[in-house]
Parts: sequence; structure tokens; C-alpha cells
Amino acid sequence: MLPLVALVGRPNVGKSTLFNVLTRTRDALVHDEPGVTRDRHYGVCRPEGRRHFAVVDTGGIAGEDEGLVGATTRQARAAAEEADLVLFIVDGREGASALDDEILAWLRKTARPTLLVVNKTDGLDSDAAINEFSRYGFSDAVDVSSAHRRGIDELIDEVIGRLPEEGAQVELDSDPDRVRIAFIGRPNVGKSTLVNRLLGEERMIASEVPGTTRDSVAIDMERDGRLYRLVDTAGVRRKSRVDEAVEKFSIIKTLQAIEQCQVAVIMLDATEGVTDQDATVLALALDAGRALVVAINKWDGLSDYQREQAEAMLARKLGFVSWAEAVRISAKHGSGLRELFRAVHRAHASATRVFGTTEVNNALEAAYASNPPATVRGHVAKLRFGHPSGTNPPTFVIHGTRLRTLTESYKRYLENFFRKRFKLVGTPVRFVFKEGS
Ligand code: GDP
Ligand code: GDP
Repeated sequence: MLPLVALVGRPNVGKSTLFNVLTRTRDALVHDEPGVTRDRHYGVCRPEGRRHFAVVDTGGIAGEDEGLVGATTRQARAAAEEADLVLFIVDGREGASALDDEILAWLRKTARPTLLVVNKTDGLDSDAAINEFSRYGFSDAVDVSSAHRRGIDELIDEVIGRLPEEGAQVELDSDPDRVRIAFIGRPNVGKSTLVNRLLGEERMIASEVPGTTRDSVAIDMERDGRLYRLVDTAGVRRKSRVDEAVEKFSIIKTLQAIEQCQVAVIMLDATEGVTDQDATVLALALDAGRALVVAINKWDGLSDYQREQAEAMLARKLGFVSWAEAVRISAKHGSGLRELFRAVHRAHASATRVFGTTEVNNALEAAYASNPPATVRGHVAKLRFGHPSGTNPPTFVIHGTRLRTLTESYKRYLENFFRKRFKLVGTPVRFVFKEGS
């Protein structure tokens, strides 16, 4: 399961700067989508080819005067108490302060494994900066400059080295014929109603995946002759009261579910539209590059007028993720589920499609021929050749020259051209542009 690393420190030491450095997606296109509300407290660090981990910025967690009210703060605090590793961030320029002492005292009580991180060491002597905090008694510490991205790789090494062993976790991808689905969404959109309905209907052939823990139950099921693995159904299934949903809603769990699935089904409540919390969940799925299906639930309770209103709202709010199919369902009555699973399959097929180099090059040539990039300040980008470089999401590497002059709108044109040509639905598509050959 995705381990959790919490950033703890007094205000202004650079937690959010470090958080951004660790979790920033390299996918500028996704990152800059208008209309995505980003929760700036939760993210995933995805170092290439290495272990991924969730990161939570606990904000102003310390000191009663900071005020521990508000669900976000409570959740952040709880997250720190559950973290596999806490990064205790201090300011190398200002040295230790009374507030740092307080935070440390709190940290000692939580007894979580803690690594001291001395930030803002740009222009400072690292050893001297670390020495400032020697009275805290950490046998080792890491110095970084988050603002200048210095020391970050070393920090990531240290973090990964201190995470608990992955243990005898089941390989969730042990059965490649099964499509791994996660139902995600804010509380009360209808996730448990849907999952319980699915499992109720398929009770005879649903089974818990051996080796999954109580916290994270995966369930195998079959539907219309196809095999699925529903990941992370624990919180969803066992819920008995509606208010439990609100209590139990955990962004970390959502992150873990997203990480484990191939297709994320984000559920919305048609009677409430797209809320900020929905947008946060959506953004987490987009960051992960997951195939996505939007299930608009509670469609049963709406009048024609309300349906029109809901459609307009969805078109407005979800316009930026138009590649995802939206399906109207009623978890309560079981309607729309066949269409939902068809959409899941289309998304899965698109996300996992394996491309050949020739077809990628032909597509690139065709896209280029029918609409070459425009000249920007006397320069024009040349797209020379391309090749596939991965699935889930489909990723294409494009080589050429003066690629820096490619506009966002041209990149969008390329993406749409590829989508159309290869009939890709329900999955993000990534392009990596490489200067030279
Ligand atoms: P937070 O309150 O702990 O989340 O702190 P922020 O990330 O908002 O940073 C507080 C201030 O410190 C901002 O003005 C940052 O630009 C600055 N800062 C963050 N990291 C560094 C660093 O590595 N070096 C220097 N010189 N400034 C930094
Ligand atoms: P979760 O927190 O996302 O798991 O949401 P629940 O499955 O607990 O559903 C929250 C509330 O919405 C419950 O009162 C459900 O009965 C209700 N609900 C769920 N699905 C539907 C639906 O399709 N139509 C209607 N009208 N109500 C629904």
C-alpha cells in the first residue's frame, strides 16, 4: 500500500514549498487544467522507477494558538499520527525556535519515526545549519533548499530508505485478466450503495482477495462474463451509518485506491452537482494519470427540469475532462450499471493499448501534414519522429527541434488528433517532447 509521509513544522519553514517540489506532476498539461481545485495538502511523490509515497502537508499543526479546529486540520493531525514517516521541517536560516520545541514535544508523543529536515540552507554552510539543531538529538538530519530544489533527491533517498518494508502484500495485479476498479468520491455520493449492490447481485461469484488486509479489502467479481477486482472496498462496504461516511472519508485512502486501480470510477451526486470536494478527488485521479469514468449517481430522484440543470452544470464543470465518459446511474435502483461497466471497459482498453512505433509515426506525420506548428517569433518547431513509451496512460515521445515554441493549443491539437485516430476514450494521454533526435 502507498506509504504515508507527513510534513510537520511551524508556519513559514517551507512545508508547502517542499510539498510542491515533492508532489508536482511533470504533466504540465494536466497540472494547469482550469477548473481543477487542487487540495494543496495531499499529493503523491512519484520518483521515477522507485517507490511512490503519499505526502501530506499538515499545515499549522502545532501550538494550540494555531487552532486545531476544522476538519482539515483534524485530518492532517490524524494523518501525521498515522504516518509511516514524519518529516520534521525546520528553518536553517532562523535556527531553532520555541515553536519548534513545542512541535518536537508533540512529535515525541506521537512516537512516529521522524527525520529532521533543515530547509532554506541555500547559501548556508550545511553542517553549521544542521548543528544549530543538534540539541534536538537527531542522530542524522538532511539539509535541503526546497526553493532551489537542492538536496531533494537525497531527501527522497532517505525517505524511501526509512519506509517500512513493503511486506507480504498481495500483488494486486497478480491477475492480469481482471480489470482493477476503484470507486472513489466524497461522502454520501453513493459508493457503498453501489458496491453493495454489485456484490449483492454477484454474491455467488464475489470473493475477497486473499492477503488483503482489513483496512484494504480487494474483492474479485464477475459480471456479464468479465472479471473485475474492486480495490479498497473496506471503508466502502462496512459502513453502516451515513454519518460514518463523513467521519471515515479519507483522502489518503482515496489516494491509495487510485494508486491500486487501473480505472477510477468517480461518483458524483446529481442532486448536488460538482462540489469542491468532488474536484479535489478528481484532481487526485488526474494527477495519477488514471483511466477515469464519471458515474453521475442518484439520477432516479430528478425531475426533467432538474436533469436539464444537472446536465448543464456537468457540461460546464467537467468540460476540461471531456475525454472521460460520464454515465448516469442509480445505485439505488441499479439502473445504468451495464452502461457504466461498458465505459469502464472502453477506458481500460484505451489505457492499456500497446502501440507500435510505425502507427505512432504515421499519426504524427498526418497530424503535422494537416496542421504544422505556426512560426513563433521567427522560429518554427519541427516534429521529426515519435514512438510509444508506455501505457496506462498511453504515453508518446515526440522528437524534434525548437519544441519549446510549441503552444499549448498545438499540444492540445496533437492530443486530440491522436485521440481521434486511435479512438482513445476514458484515459489521459501524455506527450513527452524531446529536443533533438
Ligand atoms: P510553510 O508555511 O511552512 O508552508 O512555508 P512556505 O512553503 O509557504 O514558505 C515560507 C517562505 O519561505 C516562502 O516565502 C518561501 O518562498 C520561503 N522558502 C521556502 N523554502 C525555501 C528555501 O529553501 N530557501 C529559501 N531561501 N526560502 C524558502
Ligand atoms: P457513500 O458515502 O458514497 O458510500 O454513500 P452511500 O452509499 O452511503 O449513500 C449515501 C445516501 O445516498 C444514502 O442515503 C443512500 O441511500 C443514498 N443513495 C445512494 N445511491 C442512491 C441513488 O442512486 N439514488 C438515490 N435517490 N439515493 C441514493
